[in-house]
Amino acid sequence: MSFTLHGIAVSSGIAIGRAHLVSHTSLEVAHYVLPDHLVQEEISRFDAALETTRQELAALRAVRPQQAAAEFDAFLDLHLMILGDEHISSAAREMIAREHCNAEWALKVQMDELVTHFEAFEDAYLSERKTDVVQVVERVLKTLSGHVSHAPPAEEDGTSMILVAHDVSPADLIQLKPHQFTAILTDLGGATSHTAIIARGLNTPCVVGLHRARQLVRENDALIVDGEQGVVIVNPDKQILAEYKLRQDQWELERKKLKGLKTKRAITLEGTRIELHANIEMPGDLQEVRDNAAAGVGLFRSEFLFLNRDELPDEEEQFEAYRTVAEGMHGLPVTIRTFDLGADKQIKGVQRVASNPALGLRAIRLCLAEPQLFRTQLRALLRASHYGNVKILVPMLSGAAEINQTLQAIAAAQQSLDNEGIPFNREIPVGGMIEIPSAALALGAFTRKLDFVSIGTNDLIQYVLAIDRTDEEVAHLYDPLHPAVLQLLAHVIGGANKAGIPVSVCGEMAGEVAYTRLLLGLGLRQFSMHPAQLFSVKQRILTTSLTEAVTLTHKILRADDPMKIRELLDRLNA
Ligand code: PEP
Ligand code: MG
Repeated sequence: MSFTLHGIAVSSGIAIGRAHLVSHTSLEVAHYVLPDHLVQEEISRFDAALETTRQELAALRAVRPQQAAAEFDAFLDLHLMILGDEHISSAAREMIAREHCNAEWALKVQMDELVTHFEAFEDAYLSERKTDVVQVVERVLKTLSGHVSHAPPAEEDGTSMILVAHDVSPADLIQLKPHQFTAILTDLGGATSHTAIIARGLNTPCVVGLHRARQLVRENDALIVDGEQGVVIVNPDKQILAEYKLRQDQWELERKKLKGLKTKRAITLEGTRIELHANIEMPGDLQEVRDNAAAGVGLFRSEFLFLNRDELPDEEEQFEAYRTVAEGMHGLPVTIRTFDLGADKQIKGVQRVASNPALGLRAIRLCLAEPQLFRTQLRALLRASHYGNVKILVPMLSGAAEINQTLQAIAAAQQSLDNEGIPFNREIPVGGMIEIPSAALALGAFTRKLDFVSIGTNDLIQYVLAIDRTDEEVAHLYDPLHPAVLQLLAHVIGGANKAGIPVSVCGEMAGEVAYTRLLLGLGLRQFSMHPAQLFSVKQRILTTSLTEAVTLTHKILRADDPMKIRELLDRLNA
């Protein structure tokens, strides 16, 4: 049966392929007693699930991310070891034979015992391993329930696979990166959730907020994903399929044409130069940054380097990662953001339970509360500054007090390197993200104390409009054109320009061509976005008259009716 689902379009492009379902198994399992004649069969089912899981884990080794090969191997070895532990294998098998219970129940009971063992360890590392036990058991449960797991999809016949999940965390998505799904669909999530941002970084069409896709779509269903309109067509008929194949070809042709802009400079019709930088999550993204001729890295979300692990890496490992990026840009600016952990990006070792994580101990707040963690990162960043044009960007600053504390922490890290005779750039620029309304309103502290500012519109809009950016139920209220948002943008861009310090926008707004002229009209001259968006934005800039943009933008700023604002924006983009 053919049907259509509507969600939020977050990463454009058209994909045609087959559904691959990914599920998060709940550990609440049923308990039932089997008749005698089915017990042996149940034991065989259990053994087969263990074997399948073992093979899946072994297969993961072949697709492990290069930059974290050692950690990945250690994680796989540990999970294979847990799988072979007698609690998980023999004890569960004996329990099925003795009590005639179902395999899921035996596994769950044995898991609980093993977890209790681990919890009793005084050593924090060993006690934390209980999470690994749960993850391994989840994997076996998925296999038992017939669900397809995170194993790479089969592509022997060349069919493109489309990932369908209820939700995918940013960390999971990074882990799935090598598997090359041609599109990503999730029930939850908003347009600027970090999952959506990663999907965009992968240049993979993505629709989120589909509500019940995971439930309605079946494994191997034929799918068309329109990442522009947020539409998913399940089991389309031949005519629709042919129509979308045509649109897919046209879309790819457009992208090829845009590549012709690689050597063109981004200048407006009047000849004003605009700087286009790239946002990255991994050193591996650098190739794309170069392919799209970015003038620098405007935002390196450093926390993504380390999301799939239990604890943050030591100074040496961080230094190597930052140096790779700094050197890889050959003297062009590389703006590295200090860890923005917390909210939807958690490292297990520093995970906290907050009643409202977006308003909790996140980003710079977490770093200031964990001085050792912050000092390690700062030392690594400063050391990397000796090898390239590194700038430090601090997320979620709310005002002068946090700026002062941050600058003191940087000075202390510099002093410690000096004491050890380790070189670093003494003039390293330090900037602050403007993503909390208080920062935008109290901009003076930022322009006086810092070297540059970068506006994080994703969070700024979230906090100004009180809309959780990860919650699809309020996604329709997320509005970059809300007069309050526009006034704040005008205030920050105008204020920074007046104070003579560089200002950029590095939130998703910067990469959307619909807002390019508006931001130019507000006085913005530096944008940072996903590398894949650079050429479209450049094309828009090349056809922009700044004078006209300023006139219409001022009209937009004076309007407060949403219809009127839309109409003026359409005129600006005509
Ligand atoms: C932002 O908030 O706009 C931003 C760029 O940071 P992030 O999306 O990583 O929170
Ligand atoms: Mg942010």
